[in-house]
Amino acid sequence: MIDVKDLVVSYGTATALDHLTLTVARGEMVALLGPNGAGKSTLAGTLAGLLKPASGTVSIGGRLALIPEGRQLFPDLSVADNLALGGWRSGERDPAFVFDFLPRLAELAGRRAGVLSGGEQQMVAFGRAMMSRPDALVVDELSLGLAPNVTADLAGHLAELNRERGLTVLLIEQNARLAFDLCRRAYVLESGRLVTEGESAELADDPRVASAYLGGA
Ligand code: ATP
Repeated sequence: MIDVKDLVVSYGTATALDHLTLTVARGEMVALLGPNGAGKSTLAGTLAGLLKPASGTVSIGGRLALIPEGRQLFPDLSVADNLALGGWRSGERDPAFVFDFLPRLAELAGRRAGVLSGGEQQMVAFGRAMMSRPDALVVDELSLGLAPNVTADLAGHLAELNRERGLTVLLIEQNARLAFDLCRRAYVLESGRLVTEGESAELADDPRVASAYLGGA
């Protein structure tokens, strides 16, 4: 569903992604881990078509939506209007199906997005992405700035969509525990290059990964 081959993306002379290759199969939920500056948001932007590769290929076998880093909502618009913007391209006008799996959004629909808590705003960004009726979702830092219980709640909704509706998910995270809990497989990116990839269970046992991402566990 998401097929990235030998991808190079640069900002001027600085190479942000250096011959990156990864795949996410239809219905799979896969993690991409990496520290600040590894190139994670660059990949998200490239998958979303916002950045142009210098070389390599990106192929997406369906409709893709992005939950961008920092949510990027329109703070002065209501939750309902933010959701409606997500449906602009797909023609989806009715958020009822979003309220089915994110019922809290129905209660918040009339509120201004800018006054909501971080977790609520992330939920709006999630719902807005789903309004585009995607086959695949790229989530850039679900957990950023959120309390663990709030992250866990959102992660639960994401896992449910993956399990029950076959939504393909690429979960871009700095929080390795969350990523390994949610995803059977993961890639680890550092300075624009893949350093390792594999089953989450095996990566969690890899001493290099554990010391860098799991606090030396
Ligand atoms: P973070 O979690 O901090 O967002 P990241 O893994 O998402 O990090 P990117 O934002 O993709 O990393 O950045 C990758 C590299 O590209 C970094 O070295 C960064 O400084 C550089 N970079 C990102 N955006 C730009 C830009 N607009 N112009 C120049 N360099 C950039």
